[in-house]
Amino acid sequence: MKITRKDFLRLSGLSVLAAGAVRTFEAAKAAGQSAIRPLRGSGGAPRKQLAMAIDLRKCRQRPGCDLCMKACRDAHNVPVIADPRHEVKWIWNAPFAEVFPLEQSAYTERNYTGSPLPVLCNHCDEPACVRVCPTGATWKRSEDGIVMMDWHRCIGCKYCMVACPYEARSFNFVDPRPYIEHINSDFPTRSMGVVEKCNFCAERLAAGKQPACVEACPANAIAFGDSSDPNSPVCLALSASFSLRRKPELGTGPNVHSIV
Ligand code: SF4
Ligand code: SF4
Repeated sequence: MKITRKDFLRLSGLSVLAAGAVRTFEAAKAAGQSAIRPLRGSGGAPRKQLAMAIDLRKCRQRPGCDLCMKACRDAHNVPVIADPRHEVKWIWNAPFAEVFPLEQSAYTERNYTGSPLPVLCNHCDEPACVRVCPTGATWKRSEDGIVMMDWHRCIGCKYCMVACPYEARSFNFVDPRPYIEHINSDFPTRSMGVVEKCNFCAERLAAGKQPACVEACPANAIAFGDSSDPNSPVCLALSASFSLRRKPELGTGPNVHSIV
């Protein structure tokens, strides 16, 4: 059987992911399935981990709204490329059945058919993408748990894209610059041949601002903050309502929650 380069990358990534997933799944089982279980630092104190909760009930009240996505594109020079093979996604809309295939019910069918929901990188506790990157171009930041990218170190091998179980990473198959609607000169543009994804607005947080999507939402549907702080907006939102995370059974520990 002939194995193409693409098959090789996919198989290598899947085996690394499978090995990591078994270990992290065991850890998740041992620790229970609490969605806002705080991580522990070296001294046993809760470790800061930024997280997001998107209230889909509020999103549903505004059919067709994409202001969070537009704000993210404008803040980060994300190109708009019509060809789906070359699309670059930081935060995007997907059907409920695709995002939560095991969580469908009469309720979700009634309320979410035709109502796509926003999805983004989960800034996982155990990011499979970080585990496979051969150059250290992506890493989990110790101070707040953001999974970062350094485009200068990315060699475009796409291992991280294969390893991520959420398709949260995009590859620049073409030069993205001609497809940027409004260039933000305060944020770098990327070149062809590198991977990119949501950065939880690390540059805005450093300036004391909220993430662009959080700020742009007119319905206050997105809560953001430290999941180790029970009084943070994200913990308060999650303690008041039922929420789902994508594929928690993999043990990746996703930090984006959808309130349904
Ligand atoms: S969602 Fe994917 S890209 Fe984001 S941290 Fe998790 S594994 Fe990495
Ligand atoms: S947190 Fe920032 S980078 Fe991530 S989706 Fe929201 S606006 Fe985009």
